[in-house]
Amino acid sequence: MGVRLIIMGPPGVGKGTQGEFLAERFGVPRLSTGDMIRAALKAGTALGERVRDYYEAGELVPDEVVLGLVAEAIDGSEASGGFVLDGFPRTVPQADGLGELLTARGIGLDAVLSLEAPEEELVDRISGRRVCGACGLVTHVRAVGEAAACPACVATLVQRSDDRAETVRNRLAVYGAQTEPLLAYYARSETGLTAVDGTGTLEAVRDRLFETLRTAEMAG
Ligand code: ADP
Ligand code: ZN
Repeated sequence: MGVRLIIMGPPGVGKGTQGEFLAERFGVPRLSTGDMIRAALKAGTALGERVRDYYEAGELVPDEVVLGLVAEAIDGSEASGGFVLDGFPRTVPQADGLGELLTARGIGLDAVLSLEAPEEELVDRISGRRVCGACGLVTHVRAVGEAAACPACVATLVQRSDDRAETVRNRLAVYGAQTEPLLAYYARSETGLTAVDGTGTLEAVRDRLFETLRTAEMAG
């Protein structure tokens, strides 16, 4: 059984949250290259040091680095029943690399989901995003106010280092230049591309995603 999904979309569209809903629903892990990179930065590993400057500038880290991380994650026992890929692939070489990796393992993708929202909403969501360094909770100043304590564990909420306004603009530009071409890439692929409206409440988007997948399954 299991399900193998990619959730794509611009920075701030909610891939992480929705990817987590999908992962829970299907009982598979969410494999987020952004989370893997942040873990390496926090732990100060050699890989973390190698990618720090790219990350802080909102640039993509080198393809071979993320491909290595993803290969390892897909081969992990947790992912034997499937996975939700979040934040990967982000370039055509990464998508080609993923294709080869899957083919070599005799597995394929069930769906490639593209979450969409207008750019002004993305900027607002990212610039207001706050994360808890202790428990990993992700929230928004709209929900908790400025300079708040984490509602889950009372540690201090902080802004992700790449969520500063200067970096956000670069991340959106990088997305347009390097990742957006993948939408056409997957639309042409055997799996196809399924676009889903990413506006509205978390629950509304979640239900839209579930419904889209349910309908797709029924159709084929
Ligand atoms: P967002 O989707 O909101 O930009 P992510 O956590 O997915 O957040 O990514 C944050 C940063 O991590 C990116 O700007 C980039 O530096 C790095 N990164 C994450 N995934 C990849 C990837 N697949 N290829 C290259 N860089 C990546
Ligand atoms: Zn917390």
